Amino acid sequence: MKTVTVLGSTGSIGKSTVDLLAANPARYRVLALVANRNAEALAVQARLLRAELAVCSDPAMHRPLQAALAGTGIRVACGEDAVLAAARMGAAWTMAAITGVAGLAPTLAAAERGGAIALANKEAIVSAGDVMLRAVRDAGATLLPVDSEHNAIFQALAGSDRAGLEKIILTASGGPFRQASLEDMARATPDSALRHPVWSMGAKISIDSATLFNKGLEVIEAARLFALEAAQIEVLVHPQSIVHGMVCYKDGSVLAQLGAPDMRIPIAHTLAWPERLETHSPRLDLARAGTLEFLAPDEIRFPALRIARDALRAGGGAPTILNGANEIAVAAFLARRIGFLDIAAVVEGVLDRIGPCRADSLSAVVALDAEARRVANDFAALREAARAA
Ligand code: NDP
Repeated sequence: MKTVTVLGSTGSIGKSTVDLLAANPARYRVLALVANRNAEALAVQARLLRAELAVCSDPAMHRPLQAALAGTGIRVACGEDAVLAAARMGAAWTMAAITGVAGLAPTLAAAERGGAIALANKEAIVSAGDVMLRAVRDAGATLLPVDSEHNAIFQALAGSDRAGLEKIILTASGGPFRQASLEDMARATPDSALRHPVWSMGAKISIDSATLFNKGLEVIEAARLFALEAAQIEVLVHPQSIVHGMVCYKDGSVLAQLGAPDMRIPIAHTLAWPERLETHSPRLDLARAGTLEFLAPDEIRFPALRIARDALRAGGGAPTILNGANEIAVAAFLARRIGFLDIAAVVEGVLDRIGPCRADSLSAVVALDAEARRVANDFAALREAARAA
């Protein structure tokens, strides 16, 4: 039996992972499940999967979690150190699905123990690319991309000659505002921005999909995961979200990975890799899908892609700043403090203000992330004041 740990088990990716584990009890033994505050859902999952350990990051959840698991023999622990200890239990496969840079330390802790890291937490590799790749290399760990686009590229690259690669194409659904005017986007509310036309996901990534910062983060993630230059990573808007990614080779061949838009498919791929796991996800029906569209992204209405590419080209700490500032701007938008179009303006303002810097050690990343958040909060406060005036 393969041992597994799920970091962020109560979220959207976490629940899909738990579904797959529950459907295959003979293949996987669950060491730890980790959440932040949702003790109730965590306890239900821990019972279902007979996990050895259930952990909440928030220490205030210790009592409710202990009460919910009383008499089951499942161990309970809470607090940030308990999260790190769970990540270090040495699972053969760890799902890294905590949202945001909060997932960085636990993902690193798991990587340092070796084994396979199924990486959903793109913010960690965007913010701390060098640090994370070094930890993976030093420990002999394996990074398996969960993001559907990167998982598609990983599959389309399998067994090919890397020297023959020309470029990759990541697809984007275009989000809820694909056809909206700039005026409509200026008036967008959290409710309208959270209404994704294809995918059902956590709040942070849903807003990132609406601004296209999600695709910007994914361009940086792809550069890190597949050792590519910014110019080798193209983005195409593909509203049907059926073709997830394509690899273009020097001879003119293009290999694509297709699948129904269901995250259980890429998660299952990483869970069983290098084998295949049977899933009950919807099967692709291309005759029913009919037309597949591909369009160039509009970088006027969606400046996030340009900003992310510039950060990737600038290198050093620019992606760390971009990620930290974006997390603050998204939270400010969800709290109705700033407008939708302010998100990109805040991120760009913070990148300009902080300027070139390094992020080649964990302490440098943590300090720069904190600085980016502080400056982003200042920019958000200015925007908020301007809106109120
Ligand atoms: P959700 O917001 O749905 O879930 C986040 C999970 O992380 C929850 O289990 C939450 O616990 C837990 N969590 C949050 N903060 C902490 C913390 N400080 N310590 C421990 N656990 C914490 O997010 P998603 O599942 O949508 O996304 C997770 C990651 O996967 C993101 O990085 C996202 O970009 C990426 N991703 C998501 C996709 C999707 O389809 N959803 C697709 C591709 C990538 P609690 O429930 O207690 O708050």
